[in-house]
Amino acid sequence: MLRWKDVLIFATYGNPEPPRRVEKTEAEWEAQLTPAQFRVLRQQHTEPPYRNAYCRSYEPGVYRCAACATPLFDSTAKYHAISGWPSFTQPSSKGAIRYRFDSSHRLHRIEASCNVCGGHLGHVFNDGPAPAGLRYCINSESLRRE
Ligand code: FE
Repeated sequence: MLRWKDVLIFATYGNPEPPRRVEKTEAEWEAQLTPAQFRVLRQQHTEPPYRNAYCRSYEPGVYRCAACATPLFDSTAKYHAISGWPSFTQPSSKGAIRYRFDSSHRLHRIEASCNVCGGHLGHVFNDGPAPAGLRYCINSESLRRE
């Protein structure tokens, strides 16, 4: 189980090795993804709160990266966080997510991205439920549930 101190260590000293790497040019990503997926995954945009696909959806399944299909989160780790975006308290594996300090918008946050393709997912916070205490606040456009 990952905890906040692990996230801080990854963001500071380096992330776990991904299971594989997917590297494409921005033109290739733009051709592959929908415009909304491209804005979030490759341009770090944030989709609107509440009016997104998985915010209030709790069907069982695996949430994969919408760009490279890597399993990122399991529905068993999804919980209701009242944030307007799908929220998870753990990733599906330690190496699935890449963490980076993000001080854009004058906020000090930790960005969560796909460790395989580098696609932007959202941010991780330390106000999640026990026992891990993590809240992965993720854009629906970055995910595909199967
Ligand atoms: Fe990916």
